[in-house]
Amino acid sequence: MTSYKELGLVNTREMFKKAVAGGYAIPAFNFNTLEQMQAIVQAAVETKSPVIMQVSKGARNYANGTILRYMAQGAVEYAKELGCENPQIVLHLDHGDSFELCKDCIDNGFSSVMFDGSALPYEENIRITKQVVEYAHAHDVTVEAELGVLAGVEDEVQAEESHYTKPEEVIDFATRSGCDSLAISIGTSHGAYKFTPEQCTRDPKTGRLVPPPLAFDILHEIEKKLPGFPIVLHGSSSVPQEEVDTINAHGGKLPDAVGIPEEQLREASKSAVCKINIDSDSRLAMTAAIRKHFDEKPGDFDPRQYLKPARENMKKMYIHKIVEVLGSNDKL
Ligand SMILES: [Zn+2]
Repeated sequence: MTSYKELGLVNTREMFKKAVAGGYAIPAFNFNTLEQMQAIVQAAVETKSPVIMQVSKGARNYANGTILRYMAQGAVEYAKELGCENPQIVLHLDHGDSFELCKDCIDNGFSSVMFDGSALPYEENIRITKQVVEYAHAHDVTVEAELGVLAGVEDEVQAEESHYTKPEEVIDFATRSGCDSLAISIGTSHGAYKFTPEQCTRDPKTGRLVPPPLAFDILHEIEKKLPGFPIVLHGSSSVPQEEVDTINAHGGKLPDAVGIPEEQLREASKSAVCKINIDSDSRLAMTAAIRKHFDEKPGDFDPRQYLKPARENMKKMYIHKIVEVLGSNDKL
């Protein structure tokens, strides 16, 4: 048993309370590699932002859960080395699919876990979420649950179509499950292809797709039913057009990739939404920098030569999100 407290990590309780009261959201960045971890920590330290580093099933398969946990421990030490006296870093399990997995993460240094029972029948989702909550709270670990199904693809998580969260269910679900925060479905979606061209309109000037707006009416109804309760948005990359353009200009092929417009995420951050998950934008920033580098310097073969600009580009993106979209800067 390794408690996250021994590793210098924190849970989300105080962090979310402050974020909801302060009208900003905490960035939740997925990580799989050393370069992502370094970029996340550098960005968080430079902007004085709390940060959630999250580990998905795909990340555990790719990088190994134990290694990622040690990397999170390293992230805390690295933040201190960079001059941050009191880093606020959460290590979070993204889309845990069983009690056993959540328990294993809690036993191995995670400070926060998500149990995603959104594909289960309602009562089953409550039952297992409650079981996770009981174990987690005994170890002062916080729990995110999910109600409503998101469309799209994020690692192993797939859903054919989006089913918006029903506001009338949230009080019952949150009360009976005891979860600390709730991921809701209001039209965000996993992956870099969040919407089909049929779901969008096309900007006549640029020819680019304009996605349908998020269902703010549902969000506000949920806020009314559960005042101050921390709400989480998954699948909230904005799929920056300049990164997509760079990828496509250097041999890539990402036609009609489209994300959530940043002004909508900015608006959501000011509400009870206190955690915003961003994964695809980091992938795009990394890939754009690497493709450009290889195109311009075909003779390079030392991974450090192309991973350095990739890391820089991700860091720039993380800082932009923190300062310009979520507003979590200067909170340490
Ligand atoms: Zn997700």
